[in-house]
Amino acid sequence: MTTTARNPATTKLIDTLGPDRVVVGDEALRRFAEDPTECAPRLPAVAVFPTSVGDVQQILRIANETKTAVTVRVTAMNIGGLAIPHAGGIVVDLSRMDQIVSVDEEDMVAVVEPGVSWAALKSRLDASAQSVVVSYPLAPPETSVAACCLLDGTGTLTMRYGSMGDWIGGIEAVLANGEVVRTGAAAVTQHWYGRAALPDLAGLFLNWQGTTGIVTKLAVQLWPKRRLRTRVFIPVHELLGGIALMRLLARTGLFDDLGGLTWPAGRMLLGIDKPRARDKGEPEILFYLDISADLEFEVMMKRAVLAEAIREVRSKGHHIDDPIPLDAITDVNPEFKPLAEFPARLGFLIDNPGGGLTWVGTYGPMSRLPEGAKHGLEIMEKHGFPPLIVTRPMKGGHYCVLRFVITFAKRNAAEVERVRACNRELIQVALDHGFMTYKLPPWAAPELAARIHPGTRALIARVRQMMDPNRILAPDNLRFD
Ligand SMILES: Cc1cc2nc3c(=O)[nH]c(=O)nc-3n(C[C@H](O)[C@H](O)[C@H](O)COP(=O)(O)OP(=O)(O)OC[C@H]3O[C@@H](n4cnc5c(N)ncnc54)[C@H](O)[C@@H]3O)c2cc1C
Repeated sequence: MTTTARNPATTKLIDTLGPDRVVVGDEALRRFAEDPTECAPRLPAVAVFPTSVGDVQQILRIANETKTAVTVRVTAMNIGGLAIPHAGGIVVDLSRMDQIVSVDEEDMVAVVEPGVSWAALKSRLDASAQSVVVSYPLAPPETSVAACCLLDGTGTLTMRYGSMGDWIGGIEAVLANGEVVRTGAAAVTQHWYGRAALPDLAGLFLNWQGTTGIVTKLAVQLWPKRRLRTRVFIPVHELLGGIALMRLLARTGLFDDLGGLTWPAGRMLLGIDKPRARDKGEPEILFYLDISADLEFEVMMKRAVLAEAIREVRSKGHHIDDPIPLDAITDVNPEFKPLAEFPARLGFLIDNPGGGLTWVGTYGPMSRLPEGAKHGLEIMEKHGFPPLIVTRPMKGGHYCVLRFVITFAKRNAAEVERVRACNRELIQVALDHGFMTYKLPPWAAPELAARIHPGTRALIARVRQMMDPNRILAPDNLRFD
């Protein structure tokens, strides 16, 4: 990381926002330079803390005038290097834009500023909107709701209702030239209920990784909260049996969430940093399944459907243990408590001794999950990493998550190189099996360049040129050239 010269935008930013909301100086800026991944750090020239839409407009006007790169961040926990700044650029830290603008229980929608965290939204719903819930990622509670939706995230209700990008009811954004736009019903009415029926401009911001504008408000759809809720764990002794169970349960449409973590996760929860080999008799994958209902009878019926699915998978020769109630696991192993309720801080991942966390996170067809997972796990082991994957069916089983997770020693150059080599290979294998990286890390975009449809690549470039002619917005992200 090299020391940066003072950027011409810096003085204007200090004049506009005041010195208290502008950070300068290499030492103070170091905390903005990196994230937990293997992506190389880059030092910005300045970091700013807007608190209003007007501030964001002024910042972008200054950046545009001075042709200075802008990178947006809230907690930089996307695990893809997306919030690592352009060297010598401006970091726009949105964490102080943290107002929950509205919660409409009747229409089941919350409008949030980009700094609102999962923890803040949960406490607001728990306190004053008890008939509705939102989906939570496995991400730390302090991470941004809007960022997760804009990056098409996955959470506790995405098996039922699709990815979080699908839940965006509308967006307010500031464009590169400082103009403000709105998408969805809120562009015309006072209501943020959905994206129909104007042209769907939310797509101009979804998965664009901050390259088309800065989102200043986002409507996220909420869902009915059921009176009864329970989580059970299902240990499955081989991955193929687990995938067969995923397929069956997703298609019933009866369950909220089903997530599987392979055996290294359990060991890491128990404090073993780099588990090497699976014990004889140890299940290969542990699933959690969320059951919710309004009536006791409904819970019984859903448990019966689960039992029947397990019977069917067992009848094909797979080894599945009986479901275990949440308490039975957490009473014996309190270390498993983070899996009891989301959002939760999965300390075994983010507070690991080496400090590094990375993954190749993908969405892909359920039909290719057995081969994609098997092939990817072989690659992880070949590179000397524990075979840790997280998987979950999405949208009733139309597709699924396949995420290869690695913790590593961030300050060990040789290990970082090994991580890079492993991830590059994983991306190609995932693509070979029809899986597409979500939160596409900047290093991975060129890996896709050879495969992306030429018309699509040209269209992405044209849209970007139209939205940001001076190429100031997150210039390092989504580069297919
Ligand atoms: C242990 C762990 C588990 C996780 N599990 C999950 C999971 O289950 N599901 C999941 O989806 N994610 C998961 N994540 C990833 C991550 O936490 C989410 O993507 C998160 O919500 C990102 O929030 P953030 O505050 O860290 O965003 P940042 O990383 O600070 O921002 C991410 C990027 O999004 C774009 N962006 C953000 N806000 C705006 C805006 N207002 N306007 C324009 N662009 C914007 C920018 O490109 C920005 O650089 C996990 C992360 C960790 C560490």
